[in-house]
Amino acid sequence: MYDAIVIGVGGMGSAALYHLASRGARVLGLEQFDIPHERGSSHGLTRIIRLAYWEHSSYVPLLRRAYSLWHDLERAADEPLLIVGGSIDAAPEGSRQMAGVLDACARYELPHERFTGRSLSARFPGYRLPHDVVAVYQPDGGFLLSERCIVAHTTLAGRAGAAIVTGERVLDWTEAASGFEVRTMGDRYRARRLVFTSGAWTGKLLPFLNGVLHVERQVMLWTAPVRPELFSVQTFPVFYIHVVEGSFYGFPVHGAPGFKIGRYHHRGQILDPDADPLPMDDQDERVLRAAIARYFPDADGATVTAKTCLFTNTSDEHFVIGQLRGSPAVCYAGGFSGHGYKFCSVVGEILADLALNEGTDKDISLFDPERLKRSGTA
Ligand SMILES: Cc1cc2nc3c(=O)[nH]c(=O)nc-3n(C[C@H](O)[C@H](O)[C@H](O)COP(=O)(O)OP(=O)(O)OC[C@H]3O[C@@H](n4cnc5c(N)ncnc54)[C@H](O)[C@@H]3O)c2cc1C
Repeated sequence: MYDAIVIGVGGMGSAALYHLASRGARVLGLEQFDIPHERGSSHGLTRIIRLAYWEHSSYVPLLRRAYSLWHDLERAADEPLLIVGGSIDAAPEGSRQMAGVLDACARYELPHERFTGRSLSARFPGYRLPHDVVAVYQPDGGFLLSERCIVAHTTLAGRAGAAIVTGERVLDWTEAASGFEVRTMGDRYRARRLVFTSGAWTGKLLPFLNGVLHVERQVMLWTAPVRPELFSVQTFPVFYIHVVEGSFYGFPVHGAPGFKIGRYHHRGQILDPDADPLPMDDQDERVLRAAIARYFPDADGATVTAKTCLFTNTSDEHFVIGQLRGSPAVCYAGGFSGHGYKFCSVVGEILADLALNEGTDKDISLFDPERLKRSGTA
């Protein structure tokens, strides 16, 4: 009998496994694919981390803790995992996004600099945003090496005594005497507590979240910069920009020989996570190339590579994290709505708190799934 079983060893699950094992729990991680793999939400080399969080200012304290835990992980794994090169948030003056960015900066006294589209190009010439846009540079922004982080969390969890089984899909789980039984394709496992970090598959395993979580296809494109010197980690901060064509995020060249870009909610394609992944097609590429040509023309070279990936969305784009009503020994974290990776380190810590202490000192009230039912938007 394990103290806890973590179901899904991706971004969040590997962090939960690490925190549970580090606290001395007898823990098992079950993963349906390899670790890492390219069928979920955490692949594609890099994920943005930024502090000036417009989505809701209550994310900022969690982010501060996340930064600290990512640095701890780098030390423990003895490898760079968080690359700090600054971040740009850009949006029209007075927009919800820009108001949120400036509010987070003011409320938490975050170091930042404000630019127009023109002055931003003078400072970071890879950017050619519209002149009337407001751009906020935040020096603490940067990116995480997402697959390396999963490997680091999992390796260190293993060293701390965690058992890890890959290639075994969890089919179902039931409450059993003094705990739970988890059935996979090949075996049955028992534990006192369960932790669901099953990403795009969470709604399939936790029926109360079925219909609350919607899985959406995303596309990431890497292009060879025409002027590579403008798109290095030293010269080009990561970005999240809100322009007439939609919201786009992107990265300097790192880990692959290309500038990387994606469009938030790409083409709005809702799908079943078990469907065969659809590789990038011409329409996907046109959506991303139009933004590159207009806003980052010096990155508009040949395609280097492209990958598809999954978002798991809630209707208000805030996460769902908590304990199962009536069964507090079951906890879960999901619905990361395309902006969760940067929080993996702190979500792992929260899940360990919930599983071992049945409570956490972090403020997770924003993530109560009841809000979605209350607002009728589930
Ligand atoms: C293209 C793209 C770009 C993004 N950009 C950013 C960004 O810049 N910054 C940011 O913060 N966030 C970003 N995100 C969001 C972020 O990557 C996700 O929120 C995060 O990766 C979610 O992690 P997870 O652990 O929930 O999912 P995953 O890492 O997918 O892990 C879930 C795991 O559970 C396993 N699993 C599921 N069901 C079962 C089962 N039945 N049995 C066994 N195993 C199971 C899966 O195989 C998987 O390994 C982006 C997402 C995408 C797709």
